[in-house]
Amino acid sequence: MLTTAKRRWREATMVARGLQSGRHPVLAQIVPIRRCNLACVYCNEFDDHSAPVPLDAMLERIDHLARLGTSRIELSGGEPLLHPDLDAIIQRIRRHGALAGLITNGYLLSEKRIARLNEARLDHLQISIDNVVPDDTSKKSLKVLDRKLQMLARHASFGVNVNSVLGAELRIPEDALTIARRARELGLTATVGLIHDAGGTLVPLPPGHYRVYDEIARMTAPFYTVQNQNDFQRHLALGQPNDWHCSAGGRYLYICEDGLVHWCSQQRGHPGIPLADYTPADVEREAATPKTCAPLCTVSCVHRVALLDRLRTRPLDTIEAMVPPDGRAPASVRVLRWMFVTSRHRDRFRRLAARLLVPGARSRPDVSSTRLS
Ligand code: SF4
Ligand code: SF4
Repeated sequence: MLTTAKRRWREATMVARGLQSGRHPVLAQIVPIRRCNLACVYCNEFDDHSAPVPLDAMLERIDHLARLGTSRIELSGGEPLLHPDLDAIIQRIRRHGALAGLITNGYLLSEKRIARLNEARLDHLQISIDNVVPDDTSKKSLKVLDRKLQMLARHASFGVNVNSVLGAELRIPEDALTIARRARELGLTATVGLIHDAGGTLVPLPPGHYRVYDEIARMTAPFYTVQNQNDFQRHLALGQPNDWHCSAGGRYLYICEDGLVHWCSQQRGHPGIPLADYTPADVEREAATPKTCAPLCTVSCVHRVALLDRLRTRPLDTIEAMVPPDGRAPASVRVLRWMFVTSRHRDRFRRLAARLLVPGARSRPDVSSTRLS
């Protein structure tokens, strides 16, 4: 319980830092190994032979991300659990005070492995499940992974989110609902994403998938995940483009196994600069660079970073947009809306939050630039 409370506090601090300044990376995803033990048909992020990135190189990369002020560092892949020194990498992230996350297919989890992740002080784990029964497209199925979910629910001291996806390649949309309900039944959080093409852009949802998307999105998640409570994915699920600015390469970084910084996993090669040479000036320039792939982009973690920046610059519009069209906003959004937007004490709440969550906040220049739109 105490661990969960401490983690939530650190997450709130991350959000507050992100709300105060637009000059540091909020989230970096880094690949410790490109190899994967599975071969999902829709995936372009794995191979079946790459060696793990040597530990020294990984630690140097983590240290440099910390120097850039990165709030949250997630290990992705390939399958990161195949890396022999994963625990040491997680410990290094935590030693820098950043939030440590792991994105896995879950196949290699065991009680012992979960205990080691607890010891390394992992903050979050995301496990992706695509279907109820394995098929030719994906083996990430509830049938195989339910035992792992039960283990996680019993033994993990880190937060666990189960992400399912919707899209043409996955033929039974109701599977995503079954997976999300099972996750909630076990006390885990559940989110849903949309399948993208090789450029990271939307493959339109077939009929029937939107209804399932909507039902999962209504399962309340804590505010700070904001995964199910943003309009980006809702528009895309309806086949509509988004009008937004992608700050990838600045507020979000993707670092491949060769140690190069890319906008995201789907736009590799831009800018393709070694992380060791990446500077705050690179962060600012790439964050400001327009991306033509933005309107139909489905990369939800970059949407969440953009949402944080919208909250920083246009809090009222943004919180209003988080309320679904029928007005049934989750309790967390309603409370935040009252505290920070509509309450007559909103200035007091804002000052209190800034003082509690970000020591020294009042001396930072970006605070005063926040505009109530
Ligand atoms: S488990 Fe993940 S990384 Fe591996 S092939 Fe499937 S989607 Fe790609
Ligand atoms: S809009 Fe940004 S996150 Fe999306 S595909 Fe393009 S570069 Fe990647």
